Amino acid sequence: EPVLYIVATPIGNLADLSDRARDVLASVDHVAAEDTRHSGRLLSHFNIKVPMISVHDHNERQRAEHVINLLRAGESVALVSDAGTPLISDPGYHLVRAVREAGFKVSPVPGCCAFVAALSASGLPSDRFQFIGFLPAKSGARQQALEALAGNTETLVFYESTHRIVDSLKAMTAAFGAERYAVVARELTKTFETLHGDSLDNLVTWIQADTNQQRGEFVVLVQGAEKVLDDESIDPEAERILRILARELP
Ligand code: SAM
Repeated sequence: EPVLYIVATPIGNLADLSDRARDVLASVDHVAAEDTRHSGRLLSHFNIKVPMISVHDHNERQRAEHVINLLRAGESVALVSDAGTPLISDPGYHLVRAVREAGFKVSPVPGCCAFVAALSASGLPSDRFQFIGFLPAKSGARQQALEALAGNTETLVFYESTHRIVDSLKAMTAAFGAERYAVVARELTKTFETLHGDSLDNLVTWIQADTNQQRGEFVVLVQGAEKVLDDESIDPEAERILRILARELP
């Protein structure tokens, strides 16, 4: 049965490619990649030779038809992106939809995802979170997007690049307040991996003082806003004392 596999690839450390991902990439008839040159290097590192097709943001809808024709011909396809899990701030959504609508099987081969890795090591609440991904590039739209999130009590998760990390942290300081705690996760799984947590204003000072910290790829995680308690609920100070007492209970 022909299958479209959605294959996660490493976010820096090549050893993170799973054995199953390797097997699937080596066994399919075509690899659909966001950037065929980039993914071609990954495949040749693992000695995998498979014909590649390009599927990126600008040709995805047309390419979906081509992929469906390959599946109709009985050929399996693996979708990869430049790094991590396809469709997570990466192309693939239109392709997966179209292929499923055409009645073909879509199967995930899970693995790396930058925000999951960052969240898992950040120390921030991970039971509820909101993944935002990239903020708008223009400062006005970015500020508006951030202000709309200011009251959210869930951990907020953003993707950011070298060019905008300083501006984004400043914009977050303005929208969420200087005191809001956040974690910057940089270059995960790579040589210069850094996870640094502090109040937003301290993070701005820290990152501006060291240009090395402005290089690479970032996940920024911001603690949610403190819950506003309604009248029915217990007084926050009483709750705080109860929590302390509860900790002492056997
Ligand atoms: N599909 C990918 C995933 O599963 O995480 C994300 C693709 S998105 C185009 C690229 C962004 O992911 C980067 O700008 C950065 O925000 C984040 N990212 C990717 N690799 C990372 C890493 N090693 N460390 C920190 N952030 C990373």
